[in-house]
Amino acid sequence: RLLASHAGGSLPHALLLAGLPGTGGERFALALARYLLCADPVQGMNCGECKACRLTATGAHGDFLALEPTGKGQVIQVGQVREAIAFGAQTPGLGRCKVLLIAPAERMNAAAANALLKTLEEPPANTYLLLVTGAESRLPATVRSRCQVLRFPLPAADDCLPWLAEGSDPETARQALALAAGRPLRAAQLLREGEVETAMKQRAAVEALLEGRAAAPAVDAALAELPLETFLELLARGLQDALRALAADALRGPRGRALLTGLDEVQGALRAVAAGANPQPELARATLLGGLEARLGERAADAKLRSVFSPVTRV
Ligand SMILES: [Zn+2]
Repeated sequence: RLLASHAGGSLPHALLLAGLPGTGGERFALALARYLLCADPVQGMNCGECKACRLTATGAHGDFLALEPTGKGQVIQVGQVREAIAFGAQTPGLGRCKVLLIAPAERMNAAAANALLKTLEEPPANTYLLLVTGAESRLPATVRSRCQVLRFPLPAADDCLPWLAEGSDPETARQALALAAGRPLRAAQLLREGEVETAMKQRAAVEALLEGRAAAPAVDAALAELPLETFLELLARGLQDALRALAADALRGPRGRALLTGLDEVQGALRAVAAGANPQPELARATLLGGLEARLGERAADAKLRSVFSPVTRV
């Protein structure tokens, strides 16, 4: 459908390709960039042979610019966006158009996102802006509203299991897909790196914490290998799964409220990290896990018991 609108001259110049990481948005963006730059595309694909295709294969095409997070905070900075705006003002060097890829777009800090707004609103002639995000909700609404959004849904498990099971047994492939929350590329990565068993243990540790069966330091140790952001994502998913497992009327009960508060905290931390906050990781992990344990663990149950019985003992 996109390619038909391109042939008709109406491909939107600012596209936001949104989907969970590992559902193929970035691959699609790269393929689209190569197609747009190709001198002689064949049936909706780049030819793979022209000069433009040879250059895009190595990322060295002068009409193609990719913005990626840099530095310790892994943020896309305003200076990079200014560079991209200057790139947009040039005339294409080789071919018909220029392509700017921003991935992951939610990594732009506030100044960078603001600097991009005008370009998104009025993209320079012959320039395509492709923004890729695995976390659409973390992008400012001002950016989202200026792009045509193309969402990548999760493929059905039955469609990707045969592909994943090539080279590993079907049961491990199934586990990998479940661990990756249905995202086939992430599942393939787990399988390739032989990380399925480790990931199962990490998920079990989070489950045990949220069910009050494990203490925060033990869970911290089980998750010690994970980078902070992956750690936060794992916690967020555990909390979401636990909330989904609750009956609707239990959502307002003490466990439901504790899970929701925990999820708010973890998502707040994820947003802060995406915006470039760089907290001391050990402290951030211990604080979050300690908070979850206090709300959901045995100590929380004891406190509840005490509060239930305290009026009686006072009488
Ligand atoms: Zn080509």
